[in-house]
Amino acid sequence: MPGLIKGLATTARTLARPTQTSEYPDVQPYLPPRTRGVIALMEENCTSCMSCSRACPNWCIYIDSHKETLPATTEGGRERQRNVLDRFAIDFSLCMYCGICIEVCPFDALHWSPEFEYAEFDILDLVHEKARLGQWMATVPPPPALDPHSAEPQETTAANKSARTAPTEST
Ligand code: SF4
Ligand code: SF4
Repeated sequence: MPGLIKGLATTARTLARPTQTSEYPDVQPYLPPRTRGVIALMEENCTSCMSCSRACPNWCIYIDSHKETLPATTEGGRERQRNVLDRFAIDFSLCMYCGICIEVCPFDALHWSPEFEYAEFDILDLVHEKARLGQWMATVPPPPALDPHSAEPQETTAANKSARTAPTEST
């Protein structure tokens, strides 16, 4: 009997509390703006430097690239070489969403998107190639506004500088 009364008391107590049930997928959950849902790739920023792939603790970033030689742009100038990205893929069945790859990328090519609805029936489909990683860019939220009291960014200072004029030769 004491157990029954205790149980009924617990039921009565919780009856008045607001429900915490999340009715997903009928109701989308509230997610903080910087949620780690999926990683998006801005391909044009990627230089195939491999920093992200080397830093990934789970070795789940696959990059293939080749070198391309660009002709000299001026007479007597030197040819230049650049990396061309052939493959960039992330295996989300191995990824632990630590964000190290995004932190170490020196060229802001990787970004967090809050999208999380990409479950698959086949685990192999969790390898997202660069085309799919690029599509996630459309869902990346804009960066937060700068603190109004912060120092002016170096890029803005440089852009606002007046152009240097060539020194005039004295006669
Ligand atoms: S979030 Fe972490 S585990 Fe996932 S790809 Fe990036 S470095 Fe690797
Ligand atoms: S660290 Fe950035 S630039 Fe380098 S390979 Fe990775 S995504 Fe590309």
